[in-house]
Amino acid sequence: MLDASPAVSGDFNLYYNRKHLKRMRGAMISTMVLMVLFSGLDTITMPEKAYFDALKIRLLLLLPIAAIGWCATYIKILQPHLQWIIGFGALIVGTGVVYILWIGRAEQVLVPYEGLILVTIFFYFLVGLRFQGAMLCGWTICAVYTGMELYAGVVGENLFINVFFLVAANLIGSVGSYFQDAMSRENYDAEKLLSASAEKDFLTGLLNRRALDNHAPLIFRQAVREQRPVAVAMMDVDYFKAYNDFYGHAAGDEALKSIAHAIAECSQRPLDIVARYGGEEFAAVWFGLSRDKAADLAELVRSRVEDLAIAHEKSGLETKVVTISVGLVWLVPSEDQGVEACLRQADEALYEAKGTGRNRVMQAFGPQLNCRENAS
Ligand code: GH3
Ligand code: MG
Ligand code: MG
Repeated sequence: MLDASPAVSGDFNLYYNRKHLKRMRGAMISTMVLMVLFSGLDTITMPEKAYFDALKIRLLLLLPIAAIGWCATYIKILQPHLQWIIGFGALIVGTGVVYILWIGRAEQVLVPYEGLILVTIFFYFLVGLRFQGAMLCGWTICAVYTGMELYAGVVGENLFINVFFLVAANLIGSVGSYFQDAMSRENYDAEKLLSASAEKDFLTGLLNRRALDNHAPLIFRQAVREQRPVAVAMMDVDYFKAYNDFYGHAAGDEALKSIAHAIAECSQRPLDIVARYGGEEFAAVWFGLSRDKAADLAELVRSRVEDLAIAHEKSGLETKVVTISVGLVWLVPSEDQGVEACLRQADEALYEAKGTGRNRVMQAFGPQLNCRENAS
């Protein structure tokens, strides 16, 4: 079943449009070329007056419409709307072709209607419309053509056969484009899943280090732009080797999952990032907190992990539960202060937290970070 919820279908539309940009351009160029070629054919099939009327439609309406559609594919802000733009253009092209047939009918000339079959194939398989848009164009033009013939007084077997073929072309197109749409949707889901899992840590469900490397610089850039503070916390589980040795690796994995969950629960704001940095180390980037609030949050994380009360018989601490140590850096970054330097500083503070007894938060006040006391 195709998922049509607005946010998801909006994302998919953009993905679909981008994937089909070249096809759309190719379709617009073929339309322009065909308009010129069919203008040549009209000299054979139409009397002079009808020919000039048809020429005007082809060269002054349909050709410019195709040219506008072609240009639209190159304008980035229009890309999310290309289904509408191309669909509307395709509908005008289809109506224009019906109108040329009408010009022929008015002059008592039987202009070949087969052009409409080509137009129908163009809707479904060339122009890059999705299933619904292609159906709308195909069936609308089928109805407009039938109405035009009836109005022109063409009835009986001729009309029946023409409409029959046009309906058949629409049925083939509808089924074909439904499956094409569904296949694109599957590709889209697969690509999304792949990129999401490439950034995820499989054990804890947190982001992995690669994702942190990708996303943290964006947070920093935003902080530089808005002159807002960021805090970077490095966290490491205390005496975890001893925990593994005593309780086993599987129990260690379970403990890591619980700790990850506790850290993530404290970092729920939209721009917060929490990642498993490696082994039993975690990193967090918190955006827009004052120095005191960042320190409080780091302390909250530490106490939440302690409150999990995961028994740790072999802990070097009196509590005999699993704990973490935290190194914290807080700053309002400027252009030349990158994430890596902050992570290094936070790691140094973590090292100090370890050295001074573990199960604690240590803040870094390195001069090279040039922290601003006045930011909120
Ligand atoms: P410290 O308090 O100084 O941090 O001591 P520690 O024992 O935690 O530090 P150390 O670096 O000596 O040991 C880290 C341990 O973390 C070793 C390794 O077995 C364990 N570990 C790392 N990744 C995983 C994992 O994915 N699962 C499990 N169960 N254990 C892990
Ligand atoms: Mg470690
Ligand atoms: Mg450790």
